[in-house]
Amino acid sequence: MKVLFVSSEVFPLIKTGGLADVSGSLPIALQRLGVDVRLLMPGYPAVLNKLTDLHEIAVLENLPVINTATLLMGVIKDTQVKVMVIQSASLYERDGGPYADANGMEWLDNPVRFGILSKVAAILSGANSPVKNWQPDIVHCNDWQTGLAPAYMKLVEQSPAKSMISLHNMAFQGCYAPTWLSTLALPRTNFTLEGFEYHGQLSFLKAGIFYADAITTVSPSYAKEIQTPAFGFGLEGLLSKRGDEIKGILNGIETDEWNPATDEYLIAKYSAEKLAGKKLVKRALQERLGLHIDADAPLLGIVSRLTHQKGLDMLVPIMQDLIDAGCQLALLGNGDTQLENAFRHIAINNLGRVSVTIGYNEPLSHQVMAGCDMFIMPSRFEPCGLNQLYGLAYGTPPIVNATGGLADSVIDTNIITYKNKTANGFVMSEASSASLLHCIKQALNIFKNDAAAWRQIQKNGMLQNLSWDKSALEYLAEYEKLVKPI
Ligand code: ADP
Repeated sequence: MKVLFVSSEVFPLIKTGGLADVSGSLPIALQRLGVDVRLLMPGYPAVLNKLTDLHEIAVLENLPVINTATLLMGVIKDTQVKVMVIQSASLYERDGGPYADANGMEWLDNPVRFGILSKVAAILSGANSPVKNWQPDIVHCNDWQTGLAPAYMKLVEQSPAKSMISLHNMAFQGCYAPTWLSTLALPRTNFTLEGFEYHGQLSFLKAGIFYADAITTVSPSYAKEIQTPAFGFGLEGLLSKRGDEIKGILNGIETDEWNPATDEYLIAKYSAEKLAGKKLVKRALQERLGLHIDADAPLLGIVSRLTHQKGLDMLVPIMQDLIDAGCQLALLGNGDTQLENAFRHIAINNLGRVSVTIGYNEPLSHQVMAGCDMFIMPSRFEPCGLNQLYGLAYGTPPIVNATGGLADSVIDTNIITYKNKTANGFVMSEASSASLLHCIKQALNIFKNDAAAWRQIQKNGMLQNLSWDKSALEYLAEYEKLVKPI
């Protein structure tokens, strides 16, 4: 089985969110199952710098706009995963992020940057591929950046390979003015409802959903939710037409990166059997963040994009209640300026109790995950969510809203789940400040008054198998269905 795994971000090369984690980990787990997988991604500066053994394998010709580009191949150092990289100085080699400049302004030529990514994926799967010795059976696309690949495969390249698109977040769709159709050499006849047209615009994500042979998303609950208006972001109609085919596969976590027993960013290691190290990590975190050193103060943790999706605005009005209840807060994140400022303000007024770090910081994200007592994630929608899984693995019970992958992975603590040892966190009854406060207070009650029960909840999460191996088997089963239809 040969799989071309196409993604705009791959950990540890470049990352803005969970997509990078999935694209970094799933190929490794697929490799372990004997799948011959190669990644395809844009040649961002960080990617060119971090790959080893990078060399040219082909010249790509007849591309829209840039005409030619170089196809390089390298490997990710520790995992030996092969990565094919599209090298184009004019498209990808610039300062800033993968989607926007340093000021957060989206690159105006994103339709070309990701149109080319999609186009190259299609070329590599077709008869005219310049890479003759490796032709994929499956092109596995991820999110809108790769959405045009299934369209190019079917409509232009007449590719014999099958395509799959995995939906990691319906909120991002890549919709652009129809003038891009001719620039990207897409057939205008397919710019219709039964094609890639969406309210008069060219939609990359709709193209992927419409033309892909298979659709997956990152949790069983999200697979159902996206077929409803509240979560489908306008594509619920199309998705519900293909409803039975949409397979929800919960993400795993990279246990080499996210394991408190081996985590290089922690001053002390710990495990479900030996939890003592967690106390040392908490102390070090309090010290680093300027919080009062207090082993007993419940330390709430957040690592997140600060956007409406993540629901952290619900925390702002209840912060005083939580501080009055003796809590501390360690927040790491960035996003909406207003929300950033609201949390900054709370921190300034509560020195020693509330720490707010605005920015992106990989080592600190591990330290927050490990050093805190509870992890707060009240997302309004959450396709899968990884941080709650990290919280489970690190003995930091997650407090979450009941949506998407959060609902599929966090089991609320009550008498029944406590007795049958499945309780691993706390689940809100609705997305509101009142419900969040109620839920955190339930957690605080156990944390403060019943150490043995708290330890049990921590252990239940830590002992779960959260690795990618199970999910990778499910992806393999989907690939097999495509290649050998029943
Ligand atoms: P999303 O992809 O919607 O942002 P996920 O929970 O699926 O949310 O994944 C987020 C990933 O990004 C996690 O690995 C998380 O640790 C990381 N992350 C988010 N914000 C930050 C930050 N400010 N600093 C470091 N890591 C972050």
